[in-house]
Amino acid sequence: MGKTSKDKRDIYYRKAKEEGWRARSAFKLLQIDSECHIFEGVSKAVDLCAAPGSWSQVLARKLNENYKQALEKGPASPPKIVAVDLQAMAPLEGVIQLQGDITNISTAKQIIEHFDNTQADLVVCDGAPDVTGLHDMDIFIQSQLLLAALNIATHILKKGGTFVAKIFRAKDVTFLYAQLRIFFPYVYCTKPSSSRNSSIEAFVVCKYYSPPEDYEPNMLNPWLTDEPCNFKQLTGVNRVIVPFVVCGDLTQPDSDTNYPLNFEEKEYEYHEPVQAPIAPPYEEAILRSKRRADKNVSDQSDFNDTDIEAAIE
Ligand code: SAM
Repeated sequence: MGKTSKDKRDIYYRKAKEEGWRARSAFKLLQIDSECHIFEGVSKAVDLCAAPGSWSQVLARKLNENYKQALEKGPASPPKIVAVDLQAMAPLEGVIQLQGDITNISTAKQIIEHFDNTQADLVVCDGAPDVTGLHDMDIFIQSQLLLAALNIATHILKKGGTFVAKIFRAKDVTFLYAQLRIFFPYVYCTKPSSSRNSSIEAFVVCKYYSPPEDYEPNMLNPWLTDEPCNFKQLTGVNRVIVPFVVCGDLTQPDSDTNYPLNFEEKEYEYHEPVQAPIAPPYEEAILRSKRRADKNVSDQSDFNDTDIEAAIE
């Protein structure tokens, strides 16, 4: 495959590199904001499932703009952004980074500790599992990520705050909407034009956090509890149809279309990805194949773990 073939196939991939975003996902958050105004007045935010960090880049940019505007009116506190992912992430200025699993209680507690005595205005989660290909399993894991993110949000989000998360619009999605509606009076489901039509991903934008009066945040995941759950009993606010809003108007490029490289009448120039993966899982395989080519041997047993570790260092 040629160096430019992905640039040809995916306009958002290409634009991300041109504009300095670590991933094409940045456009999803920007387009969600253009429709739903999620950054208004935000100075403290959490980015869950953040690697490689394009949403954190968007947060850093938007929160700094807010800070500058606030300073013009009087004293203001600088932005605070906490980003978390299973994977290591290259550093980003102004972003506190944690490595961990958001479905794990210890990670959730670490995030909450960062907000000791303060609260976040915005929690975002673009979490996606490694796809297994088993459709139901992938959807289940995705919903676990969303519920883990919601649970963390209930510990740190200020009343009136906003929660944005990736959701798979699959068969039982209304159960998730019902969970969200317990905590937020406004729950929208949106699909930015930079999100591929072929993907079932969409995003929930939940506004005006207002937990039920007697609600006390806890670390129990309702889908993992031993108690029997009969979802058919859900009524009223627990069973809702969420309005579906498309964001990104028709002038935005379509993420499933191939555009010529000189699209928008700009001369095409190849750009390297903004931030190469820092510890990709395929690193060892590449090193093995390079070293095999160097030594001109075909027997894999020529390389032991010490060789590989030395090469990685
Ligand atoms: N928003 C990111 C950006 O703009 O760069 C892209 C996020 S990527 C689509 C999904 C991320 O979810 C992956 O980096 C993956 O490691 C992370 N993830 C999946 N399961 C997770 C978990 N249980 N805890 C933390 N991160 C997780």
